Amino acid sequence: MHWQELLHDPPLSDYGEVSPPIFQNSLFAFGSVAEFEKAMNQGTRPVYTRITNPTVKTLEQKIAELEGAEAAVAFSSGNGAMAALLFSVLEAGDRVVAAGPVYAGTYGLLTKLLPRLGVKSEVIDGKDTEALIAALPGAKVLLLESPTSYTFELQDLEPLTAAARQHGVLSVIDNTYGAGVYLRPLEHGVDVVVHSATKYISGHSDVVAGVVAGPEEIVRQTRSQGLVFLGAKLAPFEAWLLIRGLRTLELRLERHQRSALAVARYLEGHPKVKRVLHPGLDSFPQRTLAKKYLRGTGGIFSFEVKDGPAAKKLADSLRLFRIGVSWGGHESLVLPLASQPRVVSSYAFPEGLVRIFVGLEPPEALIADLEGALEQI
Ligand code: PLP
Repeated sequence: MHWQELLHDPPLSDYGEVSPPIFQNSLFAFGSVAEFEKAMNQGTRPVYTRITNPTVKTLEQKIAELEGAEAAVAFSSGNGAMAALLFSVLEAGDRVVAAGPVYAGTYGLLTKLLPRLGVKSEVIDGKDTEALIAALPGAKVLLLESPTSYTFELQDLEPLTAAARQHGVLSVIDNTYGAGVYLRPLEHGVDVVVHSATKYISGHSDVVAGVVAGPEEIVRQTRSQGLVFLGAKLAPFEAWLLIRGLRTLELRLERHQRSALAVARYLEGHPKVKRVLHPGLDSFPQRTLAKKYLRGTGGIFSFEVKDGPAAKKLADSLRLFRIGVSWGGHESLVLPLASQPRVVSSYAFPEGLVRIFVGLEPPEALIADLEGALEQI
């Protein structure tokens, strides 16, 4: 990805605009039936915003650039993107192999919706490369997320994607953590990338959105079936906000990364902390894999307090870290993971495990906040 694509937008009018216009249109009208038919059959012009919209298209082109993919298609949420992709490529009798622990929303799709349509899933510990490879023959999709979004466990992408290719299995990765900057999965053999653009790509906690990027043929199928028929289209204004978010993506990630590492190192040295799960720390059990695949680590990680039941009190005692799900915006967040409903997660979290997201505040202030809260437990 070159800085030109992050910062600059192809002009959509003759005015030389430096920021693209928002095409706030549900439909586009035609002067003749012949023109309309050409647009419908050959995609020469936008027809209806559920299918395509010029502002959304600008975003899709940028995301394709970001991931080095042939094409991309945007959705109104990350889960909408994952659902649209899976509903477009799977059919009754198919099997999905997923590297666990799986993100809760995806786990719900695998265990609640897809079985009703005759699609089975198998969740296998993502650290167990051999077991994942052994499950591939006869499967249709290999679902990855590296690192995972609760305990930050990595998968060894290259042997997994090579085996998937050998068995004709489509490999799909949730790249919300790496955001196309710190992890570029297509360079490691992954076929399709899915993002919750709600997180780093938006960057300001004001949009819920998702994207699928990958080979032209898969993206075309996901658009013509998953987008058009399930209908989870992205609004033009939200696409515009994401285009704006992309301009500062690298800068923000750098700041998140620097501050989160400082906070993680502080926590690692604290006597009340049992362990810190951060792929950038030398103590991280999969540090070698992290070095192999990640160009950086961003703002999110987990740590476990020795006194498990005190995790909730710790979260309640923080002032700058607010209690909340999601991440990737300007504000720091904390989440005791045992508070997540079990039914949607493939993993039972230890009581003392706390996920934090380090926002754009000065790291010294965040460390002082943690220091004060740790004194309370
Ligand atoms: N993937 C990951 C790793 C997430 O954290 C989330 C949301 O929290 C999603 C996917 C789903 O994205 P959205 O909430 O935009 O539907």
